[in-house]
Amino acid sequence: MSLTAALPQQSGASGRDAAELEALATQAGRDLEHATATEIIQWAVDTFGERFCITSSMQETALSHLASTVQPGIDVVFLDTGYHFAETVGTADAASVTIPINLVTVRPRQTVAEQDATLGADLFARNPDLCCQLRKVAPLERALQAYDAWATGIRRDEGPDRANTPVVAWDARRGKVKIAPFARWTQDDLDSYIVDNGVMTNPLLHDGYPSIGCWPCTRRVAPGEDPRSGRWAGLSKTECGIHT
Ligand code: SF4
Repeated sequence: MSLTAALPQQSGASGRDAAELEALATQAGRDLEHATATEIIQWAVDTFGERFCITSSMQETALSHLASTVQPGIDVVFLDTGYHFAETVGTADAASVTIPINLVTVRPRQTVAEQDATLGADLFARNPDLCCQLRKVAPLERALQAYDAWATGIRRDEGPDRANTPVVAWDARRGKVKIAPFARWTQDDLDSYIVDNGVMTNPLLHDGYPSIGCWPCTRRVAPGEDPRSGRWAGLSKTECGIHT
């Protein structure tokens, strides 16, 4: 679905102020540290209702699948940067018709062609931080205005930058509750969930891409290499800015 068709009404008011949301997040971070992913999502659905969404990079659809079992029709925010592999866009399209979710596709203010015209071609090669800010971070922040809480599929075992990911935390920069139901999962846990539940995955996962982002900034990884080493390879950059 398009952004316009799928975004829920942006009321701008949740009934809870930032202090209440922060207190909720802090308490839940303690209470839910040992909860299952399903219990964490159930808590979020019960607590925030329609002001809770999940986000997906469409590398796989495990979080979308699990969340839909708790709340059919749940909003799943997908950032379409304009630089995705065709396989990633195809996975999002397939997810929207095979999983009971409401796919909320969010796009940057400018198309790639418009950005090239105003900032020059291939901004990703000259200033990837600015490119990520314009094409990922800012669109997500606009989309999250409709919600009090959002969930992401990041895990502690994905690397040092994510090793201390809380299951629930206060996202002070955005003024939202940030939830990571899979934080304590390992890669094996995720793989088992995918196999056991017949969860759809991005075909590139089986073609040498264990971590999938935009095509200009993602390369294949050799067996045994750090799975995220193919992201922004050759640069010190390791995150797009969404999780930092
Ligand atoms: Fe731009 Fe690369 Fe960031 Fe995608 S990952 S938004 S192409 S810099």
